[in-house]
Formats: sequence, structure tokens, C-alpha cells
Amino acid sequence: MSLSGKTAVITGSNSGIGLGIAREMARAGANVVLNSFTDSDDDHKLAQEIGREFGVMARYVQADMSDGQACRDLIAKAGACDILINNAGIQHVAPIDQFPVDTWDRIIAINMSSAFHTTAAALPVMREAGWGRVINIASAHGLTASPFKSAYISAKHGVVGMTKTVALETAEEPITANAICPGYVLTPLVEAQIPDTMKEYNMTREEVVRNVMLQRQPSKEFATVEQMGGTAVFLCSDAAAQITGTTISVDGGWTAL
Ligand code: NAD
Repeated sequence: MSLSGKTAVITGSNSGIGLGIAREMARAGANVVLNSFTDSDDDHKLAQEIGREFGVMARYVQADMSDGQACRDLIAKAGACDILINNAGIQHVAPIDQFPVDTWDRIIAINMSSAFHTTAAALPVMREAGWGRVINIASAHGLTASPFKSAYISAKHGVVGMTKTVALETAEEPITANAICPGYVLTPLVEAQIPDTMKEYNMTREEVVRNVMLQRQPSKEFATVEQMGGTAVFLCSDAAAQITGTTISVDGGWTAL
């Protein structure tokens, strides 16, 4: 599968799933545009290293996905956008009657509205190029719920709905829109939660992983960022040209329960 000559823009890609997807896109030959809200030397170095490792053009473009205009500007600054991966996301856990209003607004903006803005800006670019892929990183929480994650779950369900709408609006064009719904993925963010949870419940690492984190993941294994990237690359293949407006769960059986 070669994505040579295509450009993939991946929001929130200086760590975790976004970075994993950027690497798999580059491995498949795509030029990549990495993004986050920071603008450090390390961010730019990360892009340079990916470019060197896979022999593609790789750039880092700073843009804050909580700002609609910045989302649209990211697409303009990317210069090309054949593949749009809406991945940036944050989480906050609190009962709904205690959920901070500004945090609700921020999660809806970063996890959902950013995909509206980037997609609106990217579709004309894809139409001009005559080919496009919109891939939204939703979640098992785009299809199911858990307590205390009202903003995240609302945003992820919203992203799944938006994905279907974009697919219908582009159905007769060589453009598809789909959502990947990961279960628990072992990213640095998740890894960092393990020591505290071990202390909180007086558990071993293995007990925390199996009984707390992967409680709802029947495989009892984390999904990996490489698997997310591989799924995204598949959605860009000819085999996936008629897959549009749907979700692909990569969740070790979570949504089968
Ligand atoms: P992460 O924290 O490692 O990555 C999130 C990325 O978003 C980072 O690159 C971060 O810099 C970026 N980001 C945050 N706020 C931003 C902003 N305002 N503007 C631009 N970028 C911003 O977390 P992750 O686990 O890799 O999550 C990536 C996506 O996958 C999220 O949408 C998350 O909801 C989703 N997801 C993760 C899991 C999991 O288990 N890790 C499961 C399901 C879905």
C-alpha cells in the first residue's frame, strides 16, 4: 500500500495515537503534517526525525484545536490535505452536576468542533485534488457511555454523527469519511496514570491494568498506536474505497459486550 504523493494532516500528533498514526502514514509513503498547540524545538525535531526515517516530507504546524479559526488555518498552512485525521482530544472526569462549565466547553471545542472546522476547510482541497479521506479518531466512548465523562462522551458521539453526515455529503465523490473507535490504548498519558492507580487501590501494575483499566476490554490487552495507524492506512487503501460513513472499532471486543 503506497500513499506516496499524498499528504496527511494529523491533529494532536506530537504524542500518543496521533504520533503513531503519523508514523504509519509516513511508513506508507505519505507526507505528513504534525500538529499540536505547543511550538517547541522538540515538536519540530519530531517531524524532522519522521521525515528522515521514512524519506517523506514531514512538517510540524502549531495550531490550537480549541480555536476554530486556527483549525481552518492549519489546513491552509498544510498546503495540501489529501488525508485528514482528526485526533486531538482531551479528557476530564467529574459527575455532571459538578462538571466545570469551561472544561465542558473546551472538551466540546477540541474533541468535536475542531473536526467540524478542519473538515470544512479540507473538503474543498480534497475536491480540487480529486481524492480524499477524512478519518476521525472517536472512541469506544463514541458508541457506549461510562459515568463521569459527560463532555468526552457527548463529543465522541457527536464526532460519530458528524462522520456519517460528511460521508453522505461526499457520497458521490472519491472521498470517504469514517471514524476509528479505539478501546484503551497504551499511550504515555495512560501509562502515567498507572502508578497513582496502583497506590490508590493498593494493587500491582498487572492488577491495575487488568482489573481497572481493561475491565471493559475483553481481550485484556491494550490496543496499540501502531494498530490505530494501520487501520487509518487501510482506510486510505483502494480496498476501503466503498467504506464510508461508518465506525471501525479497534477495542479488543469492548463494544461486543
Ligand atoms: P495524548 O494526550 O497522548 O494525545 C492527545 C494529543 O492531542 C496530543 O498530541 C496533544 O498535544 C494534542 N492536543 C491536546 N489539546 C490540543 C489542542 N488544544 N490543540 C491541538 N492539539 C491538542 O492522548 P491519546 O491517548 O493519544 O489520544 C488521542 C486521541 O485518541 C484523542 O482524541 C482521544 O480521545 C482518543 N482516544 C484515546 C484512547 C486511549 O486509550 N488512549 C482511547 C480512545 C480514544
